[in-house]
Amino acid sequence: MPNFPLEPESDVYKTLLESTKAIPWRIDWDTMTFTYVGPQIEALLGWTPQSWVGINDWVERMHPDDRDYVVEFCVTQSQAGVDHEADYRALTKDGGYVWIRDVVHVIRKDGKVEALVGFMFDISERKATEEHLLQLQKQLEEFSFSDGLTGIANRRMLDKVLEREWAQAQRSQKPISLILADIDYFKQYNDCYGHMKGDECLKRVAQSLSLAANRPLDFIARMGGEEFIWVLPETDAASAREVANKCQQLIRQAQIPHERSQVSTWLTVSLGVGTMIPGQQAHALSFVEKVDELLYLAKHNGRKRAEYGQFGG
Ligand code: GH3
Ligand code: MG
Ligand code: MG
Repeated sequence: MPNFPLEPESDVYKTLLESTKAIPWRIDWDTMTFTYVGPQIEALLGWTPQSWVGINDWVERMHPDDRDYVVEFCVTQSQAGVDHEADYRALTKDGGYVWIRDVVHVIRKDGKVEALVGFMFDISERKATEEHLLQLQKQLEEFSFSDGLTGIANRRMLDKVLEREWAQAQRSQKPISLILADIDYFKQYNDCYGHMKGDECLKRVAQSLSLAANRPLDFIARMGGEEFIWVLPETDAASAREVANKCQQLIRQAQIPHERSQVSTWLTVSLGVGTMIPGQQAHALSFVEKVDELLYLAKHNGRKRAEYGQFGG
């Protein structure tokens, strides 16, 4: 074994080092070449230990995408004399890649870096599990019908419910109502209390608003951001107005302080409230757009209020 880093008589250590799963190695700082790699490397990557020693291009046995940041990070840490760890994909002799964690210890002599010694760990299983989990999480989000923050229905669910109830209203020719609710001065709320408090506030608003109606077909969702929507099937303008009043009342009762609001000391919402008996050609989306215009009007007319509209099919 060339240039083994420990004392020649430490055969016991050598035996121990070379019988663990962690693969020991040593890099000479001046030449930046390996002077030793444990024999376990061959089982993991296919390269013989000898093939590592003295070569200048060992960086090429690293995935091209990992080289720059790993080398830069390790060199910076080593120069500062800081022990460190780096994960990267190591090239196998047959052209594949294995995820490795390098745990690096910096050896200094007379204040100068002399060598790096460390262990390589095979972390491919952990990486595979991590990647699998990330993928599952992504899939779950794609398939999910509820909003991760507030727990009420999300936009995806809204689209499905609205489509279904719209078609039903077209068949039955009963009125359907929508209430769009948007928090007033919520940007200022975030600026004043921070994003975390903002999130908490959104949860409380969702909870409060969701108590405003309770017939079996009534449905509330978070449309996105600080905007919520009630879909109220078989609901005429007068009943929609009652629900809208209840929304305002519940938000008032929640008494969420809002220092920066220009319309109240408490958090308030503006509402657009629309009712329609949809004709056969009418589109749900253009109804939503009309109610959105009412919401805009409520903002324009001073916020903390609702604007109402009835639309023909
Ligand atoms: P207006 O009274 O006209 O509705 O003003 P606004 O400030 O409420 O409306 P604007 O659209 O300017 O800002 C909405 C803010 O809502 C900005 C954005 O940072 C915040 N927001 C959107 N989604 C979230 C979220 O999930 N969490 C938090 N904390 N803030 C959010
Ligand atoms: Mg908004
Ligand atoms: Mg707003």
